[in-house]
Amino acid sequence: MTVFLDHASTSPTRGEVMDALRGDLVGGLNPSSVHRAGQKAAALLEEARSELASLLRLQPSQVVFTSGATEANNLALGGFAKAFHQRTGRRPRLLASVLEHACVRECCRELAAEGLAAVDWMDVTAAGRAVLPGAATPEPPDLFCLMAAQNETGVIQDLEGARELRLAAGSRWLCDVTQSFPLLATDAPALGADLLSFTSHKIGGPPGVGVLAGQGLREIAPLLRGGPQEQELRAGTQPVALIRGFVLAARLAVEERDAHRRHLRQLEECLLGGLRERGVAHQLNGGESPRLPGFLNLSFPGFPGPDLVIALDARGFAVSSGSACATGVMETSEALSAMFPDDAARAGGALRITPGRTTTEEEMHRLAGAIAEITGNFGGSRKAS
Ligand code: PLP
Repeated sequence: MTVFLDHASTSPTRGEVMDALRGDLVGGLNPSSVHRAGQKAAALLEEARSELASLLRLQPSQVVFTSGATEANNLALGGFAKAFHQRTGRRPRLLASVLEHACVRECCRELAAEGLAAVDWMDVTAAGRAVLPGAATPEPPDLFCLMAAQNETGVIQDLEGARELRLAAGSRWLCDVTQSFPLLATDAPALGADLLSFTSHKIGGPPGVGVLAGQGLREIAPLLRGGPQEQELRAGTQPVALIRGFVLAARLAVEERDAHRRHLRQLEECLLGGLRERGVAHQLNGGESPRLPGFLNLSFPGFPGPDLVIALDARGFAVSSGSACATGVMETSEALSAMFPDDAARAGGALRITPGRTTTEEEMHRLAGAIAEITGNFGGSRKAS
Protein backbone atom coordinates (compact mmCIF):
# COMPACT_ATOMS: atom_id res chain seq x y z
CA MET A 1 0.00 0.00 0.00
CA THR A 2 1.29 3.43 -0.91
CA VAL A 3 2.14 5.74 1.96
CA PHE A 4 0.52 9.03 0.94
CA LEU A 5 2.75 11.94 1.97
CA ASP A 6 1.37 14.66 -0.30
CA HIS A 7 -1.37 16.17 1.86
CA ALA A 8 -0.44 19.69 0.75
CA SER A 9 -1.66 18.75 -2.71
CA THR A 10 -4.84 17.09 -1.51
CA SER A 11 -5.93 15.20 1.57
CA PRO A 12 -8.18 12.15 1.20
CA THR A 13 -11.82 12.81 2.07
CA ARG A 14 -12.45 11.84 5.71
CA GLY A 15 -14.70 8.90 6.53
CA GLU A 16 -17.09 11.06 8.60
CA VAL A 17 -17.43 13.41 5.62
CA MET A 18 -18.03 10.54 3.17
CA ASP A 19 -20.83 9.23 5.42
CA ALA A 20 -22.49 12.65 5.55
CA LEU A 21 -22.07 13.15 1.79
CA ARG A 22 -23.73 9.86 0.86
CA GLY A 23 -27.00 10.93 2.48
CA ASP A 24 -26.97 14.42 0.98
CA LEU A 25 -26.06 13.40 -2.57
CA VAL A 26 -29.28 11.43 -3.04
CA GLY A 27 -31.36 14.36 -1.86
CA GLY A 28 -32.00 16.35 -5.08
CA LEU A 29 -30.95 19.54 -3.35
CA ASN A 30 -31.25 22.76 -5.40
CA PRO A 31 -31.53 25.69 -3.00
CA SER A 32 -32.97 27.97 -5.71
CA SER A 33 -36.06 25.79 -6.28
CA VAL A 34 -39.30 27.01 -4.72
CA HIS A 35 -40.78 23.60 -3.86
CA ARG A 36 -40.33 22.07 -0.44
CA ALA A 37 -37.25 20.07 -1.47
CA GLY A 38 -35.69 23.34 -2.64
CA GLN A 39 -36.58 25.09 0.61
CA LYS A 40 -35.00 22.26 2.57
CA ALA A 41 -31.85 22.60 0.44
CA ALA A 42 -31.77 26.36 1.06
CA ALA A 43 -32.10 25.81 4.81
CA LEU A 44 -29.25 23.25 4.80
CA LEU A 45 -27.09 25.61 2.74
CA GLU A 46 -27.66 28.53 5.10
CA GLU A 47 -27.01 26.32 8.12
CA ALA A 48 -23.62 25.34 6.60
CA ARG A 49 -22.85 28.99 5.76
CA SER A 50 -23.60 30.08 9.35
CA GLU A 51 -21.43 27.33 10.76
CA LEU A 52 -18.44 28.23 8.56
CA ALA A 53 -18.97 31.93 9.33
CA SER A 54 -18.88 31.22 13.05
CA LEU A 55 -15.66 29.15 12.71
CA LEU A 56 -14.12 32.20 11.02
CA ARG A 57 -15.84 34.66 13.41
CA LEU A 58 -17.57 36.35 10.46
CA GLN A 59 -21.18 37.02 9.52
CA PRO A 60 -22.95 34.51 7.23
CA SER A 61 -23.27 37.30 4.62
CA GLN A 62 -19.46 37.41 4.55
CA VAL A 63 -19.14 33.85 3.19
CA VAL A 64 -19.31 33.05 -0.54
CA PHE A 65 -18.96 29.43 -1.62
CA THR A 66 -16.94 28.74 -4.78
CA SER A 67 -15.60 25.65 -6.55
CA GLY A 68 -12.26 25.88 -4.72
CA ALA A 69 -9.43 28.22 -3.83
CA THR A 70 -8.47 28.85 -7.46
CA GLU A 71 -11.89 30.28 -8.15
CA ALA A 72 -11.95 32.14 -4.82
CA ASN A 73 -8.66 33.89 -5.61
CA ASN A 74 -9.74 34.68 -9.19
CA LEU A 75 -12.98 36.15 -7.87
CA ALA A 76 -11.12 38.17 -5.25
CA LEU A 77 -8.62 39.67 -7.68
CA GLY A 78 -10.71 39.97 -10.83
CA GLY A 79 -13.77 41.03 -8.85
CA PHE A 80 -11.81 43.64 -6.90
CA ALA A 81 -10.26 45.12 -10.07
CA LYS A 82 -13.67 45.27 -11.74
CA ALA A 83 -15.49 46.88 -8.81
CA PHE A 84 -12.61 49.29 -8.20
CA HIS A 85 -12.77 50.48 -11.80
CA GLN A 86 -16.57 50.81 -11.68
CA ARG A 87 -16.28 52.89 -8.50
CA THR A 88 -13.30 55.13 -9.30
CA GLY A 89 -12.77 54.96 -13.06
CA ARG A 90 -9.16 53.97 -12.29
CA ARG A 91 -7.36 50.65 -12.43
CA PRO A 92 -6.23 49.41 -9.03
CA ARG A 93 -2.65 48.98 -7.91
CA LEU A 94 -2.03 45.39 -6.79
CA LEU A 95 0.94 43.93 -4.92
CA ALA A 96 1.87 40.25 -4.82
CA SER A 97 4.87 37.92 -4.82
CA VAL A 98 5.83 34.81 -6.77
CA LEU A 99 5.41 32.85 -3.54
CA GLU A 100 1.65 33.03 -4.06
CA HIS A 101 -0.08 30.02 -5.62
CA ALA A 102 -0.21 30.04 -9.43
CA CYS A 103 -3.89 31.01 -9.32
CA VAL A 104 -2.92 34.33 -7.69
CA ARG A 105 0.28 34.88 -9.68
CA GLU A 106 -1.31 34.14 -13.03
CA CYS A 107 -4.40 36.17 -12.26
CA CYS A 108 -2.26 39.21 -11.35
CA ARG A 109 -0.21 38.81 -14.53
CA GLU A 110 -3.31 38.57 -16.68
CA LEU A 111 -4.96 41.60 -15.07
CA ALA A 112 -1.77 43.57 -15.76
CA ALA A 113 -1.51 42.29 -19.36
CA GLU A 114 -5.11 43.27 -20.04
CA GLY A 115 -4.58 46.73 -18.55
CA LEU A 116 -7.09 46.07 -15.76
CA ALA A 117 -4.61 46.56 -12.92
CA ALA A 118 -1.08 47.74 -12.25
CA VAL A 119 0.86 45.03 -10.44
CA ASP A 120 4.00 45.38 -8.31
CA TRP A 121 5.97 42.36 -7.17
CA MET A 122 7.56 41.94 -3.76
CA ASP A 123 11.06 40.56 -3.29
CA VAL A 124 11.42 37.12 -1.77
CA THR A 125 14.04 36.16 0.83
CA ALA A 126 16.13 32.98 0.80
CA ALA A 127 14.17 32.02 3.92
CA GLY A 128 10.97 31.92 1.84
CA ARG A 129 9.19 35.09 2.94
CA ALA A 130 7.79 37.89 0.80
CA VAL A 131 9.15 41.33 1.72
CA LEU A 132 6.26 43.69 2.36
CA PRO A 133 6.74 47.42 1.92
CA GLY A 134 6.79 49.35 5.19
CA ALA A 135 3.58 50.92 6.39
CA ALA A 136 4.96 54.34 5.34
CA THR A 137 5.34 53.34 1.68
CA PRO A 138 4.67 56.38 -0.56
CA GLU A 139 2.61 54.33 -3.02
CA PRO A 140 0.50 51.88 -1.04
CA PRO A 141 -1.27 49.16 -3.02
CA ASP A 142 -5.06 49.22 -3.27
CA LEU A 143 -4.95 45.48 -2.60
CA PHE A 144 -2.08 43.17 -1.70
CA CYS A 145 -1.86 39.38 -1.66
CA LEU A 146 -0.02 37.71 1.18
CA MET A 147 -0.84 34.08 1.83
CA ALA A 148 -0.69 32.85 5.44
CA ALA A 149 1.63 29.91 4.71
CA GLN A 150 3.40 29.06 1.46
CA ASN A 151 2.25 25.91 -0.33
CA GLU A 152 5.67 24.52 -1.23
CA THR A 153 7.69 25.27 1.89
CA GLY A 154 5.03 25.78 4.57
CA VAL A 155 6.78 29.05 5.52
CA ILE A 156 4.48 31.30 7.53
CA GLN A 157 4.48 34.76 6.03
CA ASP A 158 4.83 38.16 7.72
CA LEU A 159 1.24 38.41 8.93
CA GLU A 160 2.08 41.12 11.47
CA GLY A 161 3.62 43.24 8.69
CA ALA A 162 0.50 42.69 6.58
CA ARG A 163 -1.76 43.88 9.42
CA GLU A 164 0.39 47.01 9.82
CA LEU A 165 0.38 47.78 6.10
CA ARG A 166 -3.35 47.35 5.93
CA LEU A 167 -4.03 49.55 8.94
CA ALA A 168 -1.52 52.30 8.15
CA ALA A 169 -2.00 52.48 4.38
CA GLY A 170 -5.65 51.48 4.12
CA SER A 171 -4.75 48.74 1.60
CA ARG A 172 -7.05 45.73 1.27
CA TRP A 173 -5.46 42.35 2.04
CA LEU A 174 -6.26 39.05 0.31
CA CYS A 175 -4.94 36.20 2.45
CA ASP A 176 -4.92 32.70 0.97
CA VAL A 177 -5.20 30.40 4.02
CA THR A 178 -5.49 27.19 2.00
CA GLN A 179 -2.48 25.50 3.60
CA SER A 180 -2.70 27.06 7.03
CA PHE A 181 -6.40 26.58 7.79
CA PRO A 182 -6.09 23.29 9.70
CA LEU A 183 -3.00 24.46 11.61
CA LEU A 184 -3.19 28.17 12.42
CA ALA A 185 -5.93 30.16 14.14
CA THR A 186 -8.86 30.90 11.85
CA ASP A 187 -10.29 33.95 13.56
CA ALA A 188 -10.63 36.30 10.56
CA PRO A 189 -10.98 39.58 12.53
CA ALA A 190 -7.86 38.71 14.59
CA LEU A 191 -5.92 37.84 11.44
CA GLY A 192 -6.97 41.20 10.03
CA ALA A 193 -7.30 40.27 6.35
CA ASP A 194 -10.15 41.68 4.26
CA LEU A 195 -10.56 38.49 2.23
CA LEU A 196 -9.71 34.87 3.04
CA SER A 197 -9.65 32.06 0.51
CA PHE A 198 -9.36 28.33 1.06
CA THR A 199 -10.50 24.99 -0.23
CA SER A 200 -12.18 21.83 1.03
CA HIS A 201 -9.97 19.14 -0.49
CA LYS A 202 -6.91 20.11 1.56
CA ILE A 203 -8.67 19.55 4.88
CA GLY A 204 -10.32 16.18 4.31
CA GLY A 205 -13.45 17.60 2.68
CA PRO A 206 -14.70 16.71 -0.80
CA PRO A 207 -12.97 18.26 -3.85
CA GLY A 208 -14.85 20.86 -5.89
CA VAL A 209 -15.77 23.38 -3.22
CA GLY A 210 -14.06 26.28 -1.48
CA VAL A 211 -14.75 29.71 -0.08
CA LEU A 212 -14.02 33.41 -0.35
CA ALA A 213 -14.86 35.13 2.93
CA GLY A 214 -14.53 38.41 4.74
CA GLN A 215 -15.72 41.96 4.96
CA GLY A 216 -13.89 42.71 1.69
CA LEU A 217 -16.69 41.00 -0.26
CA ARG A 218 -18.41 44.40 -0.22
CA GLU A 219 -15.78 45.62 -2.68
CA ILE A 220 -16.03 42.74 -5.14
CA ALA A 221 -18.00 42.56 -8.41
CA PRO A 222 -19.16 39.17 -9.74
CA LEU A 223 -17.24 37.55 -12.60
CA LEU A 224 -19.77 34.86 -13.56
CA ARG A 225 -23.16 35.63 -15.06
CA GLY A 226 -26.30 33.52 -14.92
CA GLY A 227 -27.90 33.67 -11.50
CA PRO A 228 -28.25 35.61 -8.25
CA GLN A 229 -26.73 32.89 -6.03
CA GLU A 230 -24.26 33.66 -3.25
CA GLN A 231 -25.49 37.22 -2.71
CA GLU A 232 -25.14 37.84 -6.44
CA LEU A 233 -21.39 37.33 -6.23
CA ARG A 234 -21.12 33.81 -7.66
CA ALA A 235 -23.70 32.59 -10.15
CA GLY A 236 -24.43 28.86 -10.39
CA THR A 237 -26.35 26.23 -8.45
CA GLN A 238 -24.62 25.59 -5.14
CA PRO A 239 -23.48 21.98 -4.54
CA VAL A 240 -25.22 21.68 -1.17
CA ALA A 241 -23.86 18.19 -0.41
CA LEU A 242 -20.26 19.24 -1.12
CA ILE A 243 -20.66 22.45 0.86
CA ARG A 244 -21.99 20.55 3.88
CA GLY A 245 -19.12 18.06 3.60
CA PHE A 246 -16.64 20.96 3.39
CA VAL A 247 -18.05 22.66 6.47
CA LEU A 248 -18.05 19.42 8.44
CA ALA A 249 -14.35 18.91 7.52
CA ALA A 250 -13.63 22.52 8.55
CA ARG A 251 -15.29 22.02 11.94
CA LEU A 252 -13.37 18.79 12.56
CA ALA A 253 -10.12 20.52 11.54
CA VAL A 254 -10.72 23.34 14.02
CA GLU A 255 -11.68 20.94 16.84
CA GLU A 256 -8.60 18.78 16.25
CA ARG A 257 -6.15 21.58 15.53
CA ASP A 258 -3.94 21.32 18.62
CA ALA A 259 -3.64 17.53 18.46
CA HIS A 260 -2.98 17.71 14.71
CA ARG A 261 -0.17 20.20 15.19
CA ARG A 262 1.46 17.98 17.83
CA HIS A 263 1.10 14.92 15.62
CA LEU A 264 2.69 16.63 12.61
CA ARG A 265 5.54 18.05 14.69
CA GLN A 266 6.28 14.55 15.94
CA LEU A 267 6.28 13.14 12.40
CA GLU A 268 8.65 15.88 11.27
CA GLU A 269 11.04 14.98 14.09
CA CYS A 270 10.94 11.32 13.05
CA LEU A 271 11.93 12.05 9.48
CA LEU A 272 14.58 14.68 10.17
CA GLY A 273 16.00 12.59 13.04
CA GLY A 274 16.07 9.52 10.75
CA LEU A 275 17.95 11.41 8.04
CA ARG A 276 20.45 12.78 10.57
CA GLU A 277 21.05 9.35 12.10
CA ARG A 278 21.76 7.88 8.67
CA GLY A 279 24.03 10.78 7.71
CA VAL A 280 21.91 11.78 4.69
CA ALA A 281 23.04 15.26 3.54
CA HIS A 282 19.99 17.50 3.12
CA GLN A 283 18.87 21.13 3.16
CA LEU A 284 15.56 22.14 4.75
CA ASN A 285 14.24 24.86 2.43
CA GLY A 286 12.61 27.65 4.42
CA GLY A 287 14.06 26.07 7.58
CA GLU A 288 15.18 29.44 8.98
CA SER A 289 11.58 30.75 9.06
CA PRO A 290 8.55 29.84 11.15
CA ARG A 291 6.86 26.98 9.30
CA LEU A 292 3.74 24.88 9.45
CA PRO A 293 4.53 21.76 11.51
CA GLY A 294 5.26 18.64 9.45
CA PHE A 295 5.59 20.60 6.21
CA LEU A 296 8.96 19.61 4.79
CA ASN A 297 10.65 20.92 1.67
CA LEU A 298 14.02 19.21 1.39
CA SER A 299 16.83 19.30 -1.15
CA PHE A 300 19.37 16.49 -1.29
CA PRO A 301 22.54 17.89 -2.88
CA GLY A 302 23.29 16.07 -6.11
CA PHE A 303 19.84 14.52 -6.50
CA PRO A 304 17.14 16.06 -8.72
CA GLY A 305 13.74 16.22 -7.03
CA PRO A 306 11.78 14.59 -9.89
CA ASP A 307 14.16 11.56 -9.88
CA LEU A 308 13.65 11.16 -6.14
CA VAL A 309 9.88 11.38 -6.50
CA ILE A 310 9.92 8.55 -9.04
CA ALA A 311 12.32 6.42 -7.00
CA LEU A 312 10.23 6.90 -3.85
CA ASP A 313 7.03 6.18 -5.74
CA ALA A 314 8.52 2.86 -6.83
CA ARG A 315 9.15 2.10 -3.13
CA GLY A 316 5.57 2.98 -2.15
CA PHE A 317 5.87 6.59 -0.97
CA ALA A 318 3.84 9.37 -2.67
CA VAL A 319 5.63 12.71 -2.28
CA SER A 320 5.95 15.67 -4.64
CA SER A 321 8.82 17.65 -6.08
CA GLY A 322 9.30 21.39 -6.39
CA SER A 323 8.97 21.05 -10.13
CA ALA A 324 5.80 21.00 -12.17
CA CYS A 325 5.37 19.30 -15.50
CA ALA A 326 4.28 21.91 -18.05
CA THR A 327 3.81 20.72 -21.65
CA GLY A 328 6.05 17.73 -21.02
CA VAL A 329 8.95 19.79 -19.66
CA MET A 330 9.85 19.82 -15.97
CA GLU A 331 9.89 23.41 -14.78
CA THR A 332 11.40 24.38 -11.47
CA SER A 333 8.97 26.14 -9.15
CA GLU A 334 8.91 29.92 -9.35
CA ALA A 335 8.84 30.15 -5.57
CA LEU A 336 11.97 28.05 -5.04
CA SER A 337 13.77 29.76 -7.93
CA ALA A 338 13.05 33.12 -6.29
CA MET A 339 14.39 31.83 -2.96
CA PHE A 340 17.57 30.42 -4.52
CA PRO A 341 18.23 32.49 -7.67
CA ASP A 342 21.89 31.43 -7.74
CA ASP A 343 21.37 27.79 -6.86
CA ALA A 344 19.34 26.07 -9.57
CA ALA A 345 20.36 22.65 -8.23
CA ARG A 346 18.85 23.37 -4.82
CA ALA A 347 15.62 24.74 -6.30
CA GLY A 348 15.35 21.93 -8.84
CA GLY A 349 16.28 19.27 -6.30
CA ALA A 350 13.51 20.05 -3.87
CA LEU A 351 11.20 17.37 -2.55
CA ARG A 352 7.97 18.26 -0.73
CA ILE A 353 6.92 15.84 1.98
CA THR A 354 3.62 16.62 3.71
CA PRO A 355 2.27 13.94 6.04
CA GLY A 356 -1.29 14.07 7.32
CA ARG A 357 -3.68 12.98 10.02
CA THR A 358 -3.39 9.27 9.33
CA THR A 359 0.40 9.16 8.80
CA THR A 360 2.31 7.14 11.41
CA GLU A 361 5.75 7.57 12.95
CA GLU A 362 6.71 4.14 11.63
CA GLU A 363 5.97 5.36 8.07
CA MET A 364 8.25 8.36 8.55
CA HIS A 365 11.05 6.13 9.85
CA ARG A 366 10.66 3.90 6.81
CA LEU A 367 10.72 6.94 4.53
CA ALA A 368 14.01 8.11 6.07
CA GLY A 369 15.41 4.63 5.37
CA ALA A 370 14.16 4.70 1.77
CA ILE A 371 15.69 8.13 1.11
CA ALA A 372 19.01 6.98 2.59
CA GLU A 373 18.95 3.91 0.39
CA ILE A 374 18.05 5.83 -2.79
CA THR A 375 20.55 8.64 -2.30
CA GLY A 376 23.19 6.03 -1.45
CA ASN A 377 22.40 4.03 -4.60
CA PHE A 378 22.22 7.09 -6.81
CA GLY A 379 25.60 8.16 -5.42
CA GLY A 380 27.01 4.71 -6.17
CA SER A 381 25.73 4.56 -9.73
CA ARG A 382 26.92 8.10 -10.43
CA LYS A 383 30.39 7.28 -9.23
CA ALA A 384 30.43 4.17 -11.43
CA SER A 385 29.29 5.96 -14.62
N1 PLP B 1 -3.93 28.27 -2.96
C1 PLP B 1 -3.01 27.47 -2.39
C2 PLP B 1 -2.06 28.04 -1.38
C3 PLP B 1 -2.94 26.12 -2.74
O1 PLP B 1 -2.03 25.34 -2.17
C4 PLP B 1 -3.86 25.62 -3.71
C5 PLP B 1 -3.79 24.22 -4.16
O2 PLP B 1 -2.74 23.66 -4.40
C6 PLP B 1 -4.79 26.50 -4.27
C7 PLP B 1 -4.80 27.82 -3.87
C8 PLP B 1 -5.80 26.03 -5.31
O3 PLP B 1 -6.83 25.33 -4.65
P1 PLP B 1 -7.95 24.52 -5.49
O4 PLP B 1 -7.31 23.21 -5.82
O5 PLP B 1 -9.08 24.37 -4.55
O6 PLP B 1 -8.32 25.30 -6.65
